[in-house]
Amino acid sequence: MNLFATLDQAATRLGDRGAVYRGAHQLHTWTQLHDRVLRLAGALRRTYTPGQRIAIASENRAEIIELFYAVWAAECVVVPINFKLHPREMVQILEDAGVATAFASPKIASELRPESPVGVELIGGPDYERLFNGPPAAVPDTDPSTLAWLFYTSGTTGRSKGAMLSHRNLTAMTVAHLADIDSPDENCSLLHAAPMSHGSGLYIAPYVLRGARQVVSESGAFDPDEFLDLCGLHPGSSAFLAPTMIARLVSTGRKAPPTLRTIVYGGGPMYVDGLKKAMTAFGPVFAQIYGQGEAPMTITGLRRADHESDDDAILGSVGYPRSGVEVAVLGSDCAYAEPGQIGEIVCRGDVVMSGYWNNAEATRTTVRDGWLYTGDMGSYDQRGYLTLRDRSKDVVISGGSNIYPREVEEALLEHPGVAEACVVGAPDPEWGEVVVAFIVGSAADGSLDTHLLDRIARFKRPKRYVFIDELPKNSYGKVLKRELRARLG
Ligand code: AMP
Repeated sequence: MNLFATLDQAATRLGDRGAVYRGAHQLHTWTQLHDRVLRLAGALRRTYTPGQRIAIASENRAEIIELFYAVWAAECVVVPINFKLHPREMVQILEDAGVATAFASPKIASELRPESPVGVELIGGPDYERLFNGPPAAVPDTDPSTLAWLFYTSGTTGRSKGAMLSHRNLTAMTVAHLADIDSPDENCSLLHAAPMSHGSGLYIAPYVLRGARQVVSESGAFDPDEFLDLCGLHPGSSAFLAPTMIARLVSTGRKAPPTLRTIVYGGGPMYVDGLKKAMTAFGPVFAQIYGQGEAPMTITGLRRADHESDDDAILGSVGYPRSGVEVAVLGSDCAYAEPGQIGEIVCRGDVVMSGYWNNAEATRTTVRDGWLYTGDMGSYDQRGYLTLRDRSKDVVISGGSNIYPREVEEALLEHPGVAEACVVGAPDPEWGEVVVAFIVGSAADGSLDTHLLDRIARFKRPKRYVFIDELPKNSYGKVLKRELRARLG
C-alpha cells in the first residue's frame, strides 16, 4: 500500500472539485492534482531510484503537496526541512540523510545553494513546470514497510535525528486522526498554518483521503489575521497550530468565523490558563494531540468533547491513548506504574518509527522490544487520562525531590503579571539543583512567592526569578531550556 492511494481515492470520487488553494484562489482540482503528481513522479522515476531521499525546503507552498505525493508514488523518501533553519543546519540534514537532490523555494534555494552538497532544484518557475511535461508514472504495489518520510526531530535537546517513517506508519497515523481527532469530508478544508515540513505536513494525508481542500496562505507563513480571514473564506476549516500560535490568535481579540471547525494543538505544553482563554475566544473547536516525530502526532489525544469538561485535571492532561496505540507509564523498576505514579511514557503500535536513520545506537536506546521510549515523563489518573510532566531531562531534582517544571509554570501563569514562564534547574552545591523561573512580564518576587504558596508545595517554589524580554525558542516555537540553563552558568 502506497500513501498515493489516499489521493487516488479522492481524485476518483471528487474529480472536478477544488483540491488545492492559495489564499482564496483555487489552483487545482482533484483530477488536476492527481495528474500533476503522476507526471512529477514519472520525472522523478526517470532520474532517481526507489529508496533515494529527496529533500524539500520551503516556506509553506501549494507545491509541497504534489511533491510529497510524487515522491511517494516514485517510491522515494521525502526529507522535509523546516525553512526556518539556518542553511548550515539544513546542510547537516542533507548530509545526514544522504539526499539525492533538494527542492527549494526561490528564497531558500538562494541561501542553500552555496553550501549544499547536492543540486538544489527550484520549486515553481519554468524548469519546475517542465517536469510535468513527460508521461505519468505507474504507481507500484508498495510494501507498507517502505520508507516514506525521514522526519527530522526538532532537536531541542541536541542535534536533530531522522525518524524513519514508513507508508504503514503514516497510514496508521492517518486512520487514527480520522478516528479520534477530526473526521472531515469534501465540504471541509485543511489550512496549513504551521510548517508543512512538520506539524502541518503530517495532516495532508488524512484530509486528502477525505477530499478536504488543502489551503496554503498567500504569505506562506503564519499571520494570525490572515489565518482568521482564510478560515472565513473556506468551508469547515481545520488546522494544526502549536500552542504559541494559539496565543497569538487570541491576542488579536478577534472572534472565530463560523466556518472554523477544528483547531488541533500539540507539540508542546498548552497551559490550562491559555487553553481556557482560547476556548472563550473561539468556542469549542479544540482537540489536542500528543505525539513525537517518532510516533507522528499519535500517542494520546484529548478529543473535542473532552474540552467541555470543567475539570482542570482533564484540560491539563494530554488525554488518552489513540486508536491502535498502546501507551504505558513505566516506573523506575520498569514495571507498569500505578495511577498517580510518575514514570517514562512508552508506546507501541503501527505508528511507531522503525528507528533513526543511520543511528543504530540512538535506535537501540529509543525503541526496545517494539516499545518507543518517548523520554517524556507522565502519569495516568484513575480515569485513564495521561498527564505529561516534562521531558525526563528537564525534571529538576532538588534535595532529592523531583520537581516537574510544568506544574510550577502552570501555577506561575495564573499570576496576572506573568505572560510567559519557563522553569529550569540550576546547579547548586547544597541542593544538587534549585528551581529557577524565567519570566516574561512584571511582578514583584514577593508577590510571586505568595501566589505560589497558595498553589504548590513550598519546596517547589523557585529560588530565583529571572525577568527577560522573551523566551528563547527554536523555529518550531519550542522553548530552548538548554539555552536558559546555559545563561545560569
Ligand atoms: P517533536 O518530535 O519535535 O514533535 O517533539 C515531540 C515532543 O514535544 C514530545 O516528546 C513532547 O515532549 C512534546 N509534546 C508533543 N505534544 C505535546 C502536548 N500535547 N503537550 C505537551 N508536550 C507535547
